[in-house]
Amino acid sequence: MTTISRIENEPVSGQPLPAALLRTDPDRNCPLCPRLAGFRKAARAREPEWFNSPVPSFGDGDARLLIVGLAPGLQGANRTGRPFTGDFAGDLLYATLLEYRFAKGVYQARPDDGLTLVDCRISNAVRCVPPQNKPLPAEIGSCRPFLAATIATMPRLRAIVALGRVAHESTLKALGLRAAAAPFGHGAIHQAGAVKLYDSYHCSRYNTNTRVLTPEMFRNVFAKVRADLG
Ligand code: SF4
Repeated sequence: MTTISRIENEPVSGQPLPAALLRTDPDRNCPLCPRLAGFRKAARAREPEWFNSPVPSFGDGDARLLIVGLAPGLQGANRTGRPFTGDFAGDLLYATLLEYRFAKGVYQARPDDGLTLVDCRISNAVRCVPPQNKPLPAEIGSCRPFLAATIATMPRLRAIVALGRVAHESTLKALGLRAAAAPFGHGAIHQAGAVKLYDSYHCSRYNTNTRVLTPEMFRNVFAKVRADLG
């Protein structure tokens, strides 16, 4: 396990941020990423019944576990409005959360399925759906203050699971930590002050179809989190 040092003058979890930086959710029409705002607008015209807006976090702010994904999937969270809901990645994520008691109820791929998270919250490094699931570095940076505010407003936070390299690096920066000291690796655990950062390959269909990530590898990450949190 690596222990990561802090970048001077950057916020870290548990330290107060200025009120202006504590905005956890962007506006429905957030204009900060022109490319993504245009993509969103086109999706609204094409699919007016879909959510097609920045997807808010799911779960209570007093949870000890935060899961950080990459960005909403076009036909998943972008369609339904709840992170990881409605596409393949959600099938594996929610099944695993249910198995390790970080969720209760029945996942039915709908935001009104009654599923609730237990001591767990899910957010994304980028809140708007990007073309081909690939946000640009500037877009990841523009959305990071919302992730930083989400982290900073979770007073009991003890564990973060980063799904993929982009989520890992953006989370480190949101925590004000040096990314070079904590390279991404599936199964790696990094101590970041009072918070442990657990890395996992993203639970995307591509990663599971190619067996970059197996359900067992994914379960092992959450087994460690459950063992650490008790
Ligand atoms: S990705 Fe984030 S910063 Fe960019 S437009 Fe969407 S909500 Fe705003």
